[in-house]
Amino acid sequence: MKQGSSVLFFSLMLTTISGCTTATSVAATNPISQTDPRDAELQQCLAGLRGDAMQGKISSDTWQRYTRSIAGDYSVLERLNHQPEFKTPLWDYMAGLVDDERVDMAKQQLAENLELLTRIEQAYGVPKEIVVSVWGVESNFGRNMGRTEIVPSLATLSCFGRRQPFFRGELFATLRILQSGDIPLERLRGSWAGAFGQTQFMPSTFERLAVDFDGDGRRDLIDSTADALASTANFLKRGGWRTGQPWGVEARIPAALDISGEGRRNKRSLADWHNRGVRSVDGRALTEALGLPADTQAGLISPTGKEGPVFITLRNFDALYGYNAAESYALALAHLADRMQGAGGFTTPWPTDDPPLSRQQRRDLQTLLLARGHAIGEVDGILGTLSRAAIRQEQERLGHETTGRGGMKLLNALQADSSR
Ligand code: CA
Repeated sequence: MKQGSSVLFFSLMLTTISGCTTATSVAATNPISQTDPRDAELQQCLAGLRGDAMQGKISSDTWQRYTRSIAGDYSVLERLNHQPEFKTPLWDYMAGLVDDERVDMAKQQLAENLELLTRIEQAYGVPKEIVVSVWGVESNFGRNMGRTEIVPSLATLSCFGRRQPFFRGELFATLRILQSGDIPLERLRGSWAGAFGQTQFMPSTFERLAVDFDGDGRRDLIDSTADALASTANFLKRGGWRTGQPWGVEARIPAALDISGEGRRNKRSLADWHNRGVRSVDGRALTEALGLPADTQAGLISPTGKEGPVFITLRNFDALYGYNAAESYALALAHLADRMQGAGGFTTPWPTDDPPLSRQQRRDLQTLLLARGHAIGEVDGILGTLSRAAIRQEQERLGHETTGRGGMKLLNALQADSSR
């Protein structure tokens, strides 16, 4: 993640979160027989890239060693072209990323790594809670880093499909990382598009921003939590993080206020927002709620429209946005960090009559679907294609709107059914 088109990297993040990165691939150094007819084309393409690789400070030895007998990982091309058949509403996205389970785990991780996180905060000026929040959202605290071998996947994406120039840059960066000895090949696994490690940096981002914080001479975002978390703090610092400032606050706006042209980038002073009648959601003046002077520049976002929660956002929200180029993502990070410090959910309800499910509630729903005879596979809290097909059938049976979306309405209905 960490750059590129938001659409691609947004879907990539969800894949990482759900922990279902199951692309099949073959070890780059494993000279097995090449069975896919595309491998000949791949080898020819890579031969054509050799000159650029040499220009890109990759040694002839390195190039030879990691590309010689490579077999393509063509499963990534399907992922590259995947069009989600289902657009996740923001409330479902948020409920899956920031639920009680994640908040509890984040607090526990903060306590367990307090000394390290304190040193990182001192070195980079980024709060512990923010760093832990990124860690939790990116890899579920190092538990889901992706299992795709990224050299074969990036080699394939460099030679097939759209965005080849982008992925060539990432392939070359990966080879330089291997060449430097920062991370050994056998550990270098990640998401299908090349993001890897506990905070899922793309290889080029690694080159620019990863740091060796445990002092062993290697920058290792996979097996060193210290390096990974410090690198995240460094990313945010370089992205303009302002020490001592919050990210923003949930706001309350007058019903008559026209916010159609407002956004994260379109900043006004807090005094200007105050004059327009905007307050913190608890009714306080923005300057008071944020602890900042009246001339502080702030944007206003309304990701689910005027009826849903709206937010005043500051420079640090932009730094969070820079991590993954999506407002929903930045909001999840900000909210998780707030929840870790004792805040509750948003005050304004989401504009839906069918509230979202936490991961535990999604597992409960799946258990009920299994009990009703739907073959949805494992109970994993991820409402994928099979779960959604079963949800559609149940919605039809119950006379609900047939959306395929698992929400509180269906969970309640099935729970009532099963207790009869
Ligand atoms: Ca290190």
